[in-house]
Amino acid sequence: IVESVGEGVTDLKPGDHVLPVFTGECKECRHCKSEESNMCDLLRINTDRGVMLNDGKSRFSINGQPIFHFVGTSTFSEYTVVHVGCVAKINPEAPLDKVCVLSCGISTGLGATLNVAKPKKGSSVAIFGLGAVGLAAAEGARIAGASRIIGVDLNPKRFEEAKKFGVTEFVNPKDYNKPVQEVIAEMTDGGVDRSVECTGSIMAMISAFECVHD
Ligand SMILES: [Zn+2]
Repeated sequence: IVESVGEGVTDLKPGDHVLPVFTGECKECRHCKSEESNMCDLLRINTDRGVMLNDGKSRFSINGQPIFHFVGTSTFSEYTVVHVGCVAKINPEAPLDKVCVLSCGISTGLGATLNVAKPKKGSSVAIFGLGAVGLAAAEGARIAGASRIIGVDLNPKRFEEAKKFGVTEFVNPKDYNKPVQEVIAEMTDGGVDRSVECTGSIMAMISAFECVHD
């Protein structure tokens, strides 16, 4: 909750509800104006700066010694001072014990599936890795209307949770003595329409590439 605002701040007023973001947006630079990036020239994550931009000073101190700011937000403290571009105003009706930032794990998986893979309605999608990124990718496939969403993971404990994100079938490569791409190809009459690799493993990348039909 905004306690007070500095000189020249017109977007916010005391009492506004906000979420802090460490990759802020100045709304002026080429990245902020781009539709493809929000990696702001001015307010992108910076672990070295440690001070406010306008005067190069810290707003925190203990026993007269300055304490430096942390990645533009300093949210380990009860009160903090941030650049206006490092908070996002939210609906005051939203319950503060529930709202949170869905950070890179969610936007990476969801965005890659909806904006890049773009599965068609009724299509099949394989998701490799059912961590946060993979679950978000599954959610993207579900939103896009995919009818078969095949989750691939070595850890069967993840399968139950993944159902909540739209995964309809599960494959554990450890259960087979042949490459997982062959298993998926057999399940889907030659391969899935799309696959999304969310593990970072080179072997999984190869499987993900090869499980898609020609
Ligand atoms: Zn900017």
